Amino acid sequence: MGQVIKILLFIGIAIWLLFRIRRALTRSDQSDTESGSPPPPEKLMSACATCGIFVPDNEIIRAHGKFYCCAEHRDQDKPA
Ligand SMILES: [Zn+2]
Repeated sequence: MGQVIKILLFIGIAIWLLFRIRRALTRSDQSDTESGSPPPPEKLMSACATCGIFVPDNEIIRAHGKFYCCAEHRDQDKPA
């Protein structure tokens, strides 16, 4: 019986260590700017109504209910 408790305790410690190592690894990954790693996909992107290019929401130009990548494309899409 004592042997089983020892094994369970060992497994528990092993799992706890794995979680700690994984957390440390993911934390270092986020701080390091690795070359070739794609930008985070959770960043919101919207397509330009004129050229269709995807622009991050913080850089996009909104006009008459549409999104544009630049002021030039916003002006091009203006109804005559
Ligand atoms: Zn555009």
